[in-house]
Amino acid sequence: MNISRIRIPTWKIKFDIRATYQCRTCSHYGKCHTCPPKIPGFEYWKELVSQYLHAELFVLTAEYTHEDFDVIRRESAKELHSALIAAEKECFEKNQYWAASLVGGSCRICPEGCGESCRVPEKARAAMEGAGIDVISTCRVAGVGLPEYPHPKENGGTLARVGLLLVK
Ligand code: SF4
Repeated sequence: MNISRIRIPTWKIKFDIRATYQCRTCSHYGKCHTCPPKIPGFEYWKELVSQYLHAELFVLTAEYTHEDFDVIRRESAKELHSALIAAEKECFEKNQYWAASLVGGSCRICPEGCGESCRVPEKARAAMEGAGIDVISTCRVAGVGLPEYPHPKENGGTLARVGLLLVK
């Protein structure tokens, strides 16, 4: 697995209310503590992001085969999430104390999924799509080429996962 970090000004982060609507059709809707409707709404996130000047897109790519697709998908989510948390910590140590990250897709810290309340709130991070971010357009504007999506499971290929670090 490989993680690229692409520095972008936050005006390149594209919001689209349709992203939050798509969340309503996701199996995590109403279950994950970092997905809608358990997180603040669209306007909150736009306002939050507007307070930052700089961000980094974290783009993880990984090769998969038909056989290991589910494993790679699961492990890649955990790896990207850990990289974002580590990057936040690095920022904090450089006195960039407002650093905060969001993950593409839902929080995958707990293998058993979310329970009644969040088990690890210090590591849980909100979903980019749930915040109303159009992840694919944001990557396009930032010049990041993503592999075909949805990822074709049958013949193997390259999958991508995206995270966002708001720096300062
Ligand atoms: S840390 Fe665990 S319980 Fe909390 S949102 Fe993430 S997966 Fe759910």
